[in-house]
Amino acid sequence: MIPVNSFKGRTVALFGLGGSGLATAKALVDGGADVIAWDDNPASVERADKAGVPTADLRGIDWSSVASFVLSPGVPLTHPKPHWTVDLARAAGVEIIGDVELFVRERRALAPNCPLIAITGTNGKSTTTALIAHILKASGRDTQLGGNIGTAVLTLDPPKDGRFFVVECSSYQIDLAPTLDPTAGVLLNLTPDHLDRHGTMQHYADIKERLVAGSRTAVVGVDDSYCVMIADRIERAGVTVRRISSRQVLADGYYLDKGGIVEADSGATHKVADLSAIQTLRGAHNAQNAAAAIAACRAVGVSEEEIVAGLNSFPGLKHRMQPVGRRGDVVFVNDSKATNADAAAPALSSFDRIYWIAGGLPKEGGITSLTGFFPKIARAYLIGEAAPAFAATLGEAVPYEISGTLEKAVAHAAKDAEKDGNGPVAVILSPACASFDQYKNFEVRGDAFVGHVRALDGVAMLIDQETGAN
Ligand code: ADP
Repeated sequence: MIPVNSFKGRTVALFGLGGSGLATAKALVDGGADVIAWDDNPASVERADKAGVPTADLRGIDWSSVASFVLSPGVPLTHPKPHWTVDLARAAGVEIIGDVELFVRERRALAPNCPLIAITGTNGKSTTTALIAHILKASGRDTQLGGNIGTAVLTLDPPKDGRFFVVECSSYQIDLAPTLDPTAGVLLNLTPDHLDRHGTMQHYADIKERLVAGSRTAVVGVDDSYCVMIADRIERAGVTVRRISSRQVLADGYYLDKGGIVEADSGATHKVADLSAIQTLRGAHNAQNAAAAIAACRAVGVSEEEIVAGLNSFPGLKHRMQPVGRRGDVVFVNDSKATNADAAAPALSSFDRIYWIAGGLPKEGGITSLTGFFPKIARAYLIGEAAPAFAATLGEAVPYEISGTLEKAVAHAAKDAEKDGNGPVAVILSPACASFDQYKNFEVRGDAFVGHVRALDGVAMLIDQETGAN
């Protein structure tokens, strides 16, 4: 826990008492702030009361005495319309901030030189965050990992000299962190996402830009036009920029070439790492993540040797193209995190012959954007509500069955894949759908997949039974 001391004796209003909101409220209370917390959900308010966090309906408080308003990142700041608490805070001229802002203020007060690596982007945030933290830990550095990846940032150990912080930031968190100042900031990529919460692509891109604009060294993926412009703009403004790419050769920066990451410095190049044998970093998308991790780690003083050792031992993240079991020529891959067609594309592009388990709660557009991969799909096994629509899209192009449940899909796919006889094949759960029609979330769906794979005869599991990690 990082007690927030910078508000000692001052009044802080807070809205949103879910997991990270409650942790933030406690950190403020611990630091001596006079907290007034609230949530629209009475159960959350009760939980906060029990945890010793003072609560009151923020409609009835004296806003003129409030120093700052702390908002949970899940609560709308701008779109589709500002939450009622945002209107109240604005009317009173009170600053609106989030937990990442509180963290960076504490860091500046306690240990301004302890390295902070902040990561954002539309896709690949968690993988890159986990990879950077792994490289640092594997090299023996004192490392704290948190933020949007799951551990609320104020529940980490406090900043101190020599301690490294690796923090994943969603656009909502950046929007609430006006003085975010990472030692190394990573912006991986920008494609349309969450526009319901950001209004326009430009607004979404502007928010993401702030993370790298405030960085001492900015690592920017230059494989999309928004990020290219951002890299140029912040460089002109004086930020040190390290560009990365998985699609093009760069004169300066880190790029993918023949399965390895090459560093270019004013045209002089050398290969930093070979990714081709690293199972947990398959695919061009992971090359982008690895290049970002390399650039960020170099920016905080990690040697190339240490980085290569960390890349080679990266256990991967659960539910993201994770090889979980093997039987003969068949590898079973859990990509449950692929909750839309865009996110399923990397898995489908990374294997040559695929027995594909897909379906769940359908997203707009279905799987029409994936037709380019259809020739690689030996057979599809469709589950959940999306099955009829996906079947219609597959049509004559891909043989399929409507399995209905994941259990049946795994059993049938395993049997068919075993008989394939064309060398290495993959049975992949990459649903291109949300999970909520059959599961609580994508993690539960992925765990169910692993359970069904484990139940098959003769499968060698590739993951730890306890932790689920490779
Ligand atoms: P995020 O935290 O941004 O949601 P994750 O690291 O959890 O990203 O990866 C989610 C999914 O997005 C992965 O299963 C993979 O299919 C895809 N993905 C990962 N990295 C990238 C990338 N750099 N570019 C595009 N897609 C990616």
